[in-house]
Amino acid sequence: MIVDAPDPRWAKPPERATLNLMSPSLEPGHQERAELAETVLAVLQDWFDRADTMPASGIALDEALAARLMNPPSDDGRDLDAILSDLEEAGRSGVYHPSGGHLSYIPNAGLYTAALADFLAAGLNRYTGVSHAAPGMSVIEHGMVRWMTTLFGLGGSASGVLLSGGSMANFTGVVAARTARLGDEFGNGVIYVTPHTHHSVEKAARIAGFRKDQVRIVTVDADLRMEPDSLRAAIAADRAAGLNPFLVVGSAGTTDTGTVDPLQSLARIVADEGLWLHVDAAYGGFFQLTERGRAAIAGIELADSIAIDPHKGLSIPFGVGALLVRDEGHLIDANQGRGAYLLEDDHYSGIRDIASLGPELSRPFRALQMWLPLHLHGVAPFREALDSSLDLAAYAYRRLSGIDGLQTPWQPDLSIVAFRFDDDELGHRALEAVNQNRVVHVSPTTIEDRFVLRFAILNRRTTQDHIDHAIDIIEKTLIG
Ligand SMILES: *Cc1c(COP(=O)(O)O)cnc(C)c1O
Repeated sequence: MIVDAPDPRWAKPPERATLNLMSPSLEPGHQERAELAETVLAVLQDWFDRADTMPASGIALDEALAARLMNPPSDDGRDLDAILSDLEEAGRSGVYHPSGGHLSYIPNAGLYTAALADFLAAGLNRYTGVSHAAPGMSVIEHGMVRWMTTLFGLGGSASGVLLSGGSMANFTGVVAARTARLGDEFGNGVIYVTPHTHHSVEKAARIAGFRKDQVRIVTVDADLRMEPDSLRAAIAADRAAGLNPFLVVGSAGTTDTGTVDPLQSLARIVADEGLWLHVDAAYGGFFQLTERGRAAIAGIELADSIAIDPHKGLSIPFGVGALLVRDEGHLIDANQGRGAYLLEDDHYSGIRDIASLGPELSRPFRALQMWLPLHLHGVAPFREALDSSLDLAAYAYRRLSGIDGLQTPWQPDLSIVAFRFDDDELGHRALEAVNQNRVVHVSPTTIEDRFVLRFAILNRRTTQDHIDHAIDIIEKTLIG
């Protein structure tokens, strides 16, 4: 259910029992812990109660509030109610990811049960950097990684690591590829991307020590997919120039348009040339759970490494991404380093240390945010939500295709529908009209120097009504 135009004010904040929650000690007692949790829970209950009807974006951040939020902590603490009121006010500005009207960037509705899992993980506060400190928790992490490597058919030597998101996964993938294919001398290495590859890959290359001129931007076809022939030609030219091609990055769903590169062709070239294929599936990876998605990203099983974001396709709260690799040895080689105070990997438990697989030592117990909801709900509801996003994207594309003044050159591979306007100026106006209304929030991009709007559909609360609402406003703008 959506309203025509959202009430700019928030509903009254939840009633809270007045408890004496002023500066509790660092060791609250049993009853006090319950009261603290209940008080915090009331905020979440209110938020989730309103999730179905909340607008997609809020008011601007108030300057006085911003100043107050920046205040340093006092010596004696404050009342929890006052702190939570400030937090609620802080949350009124910006874009509301839980809203089904959130169609900008890459949506993530969040998941109540994953939030509970995060609370549990932080509360239990076990250490998952080295396995002997919490072997059971480490096994849970390895199990979630194996669930994903199995999903992609990466084989028995596959492995991976949970990281903070796609950017860190791409970075860790670039470093693994660099170490495996180039070793320590990588000044001549060349990485192949397209103009539509996520910018975190170029950023990763930079952090990993590559110069800008070591990233080659390969031409795309009219559907914005990397052209295999151009890739072959670029590799040949670079070899002829004495350079060392080593890494091809394909996208299983670009962020702008959800476009999937021709992964099978890229894999063939990579095999012929002895390179490494990294597939950025941060946005699109979990469509592998669906039949249509599997067909759309076929070839991903041939990758040497895959970046995937549970905090996109599975609605896990922000901070959970993963790098998967075909061969665990490559990840271990790339992440060498051990303090004298730490014993050999697997010394106690026979379970691979997670710190050996990525850049982090101390790290949150991320897997619980996936493990608990996946085991609790089962996989089916996640698959259904992803399927419904694919349906809505197909619907949006059909409707947009019939509108005079709009161009829909890119049929969606997955759940992002990008379109442009005969007149870019009208596009800007349409964007403003949609976002000012606040039931739906969209974000633009630039493709081939043209202004492009996009519906990114990945939020399980998004309905056909949201899509219609946005398209109606766009149509009205076009009519003038
Ligand atoms: C979101 C995204 C990233 C970056 O991931 P973060 O989790 O935001 O760091 C990388 N690649 C693609 C295709 C993405 O959609």
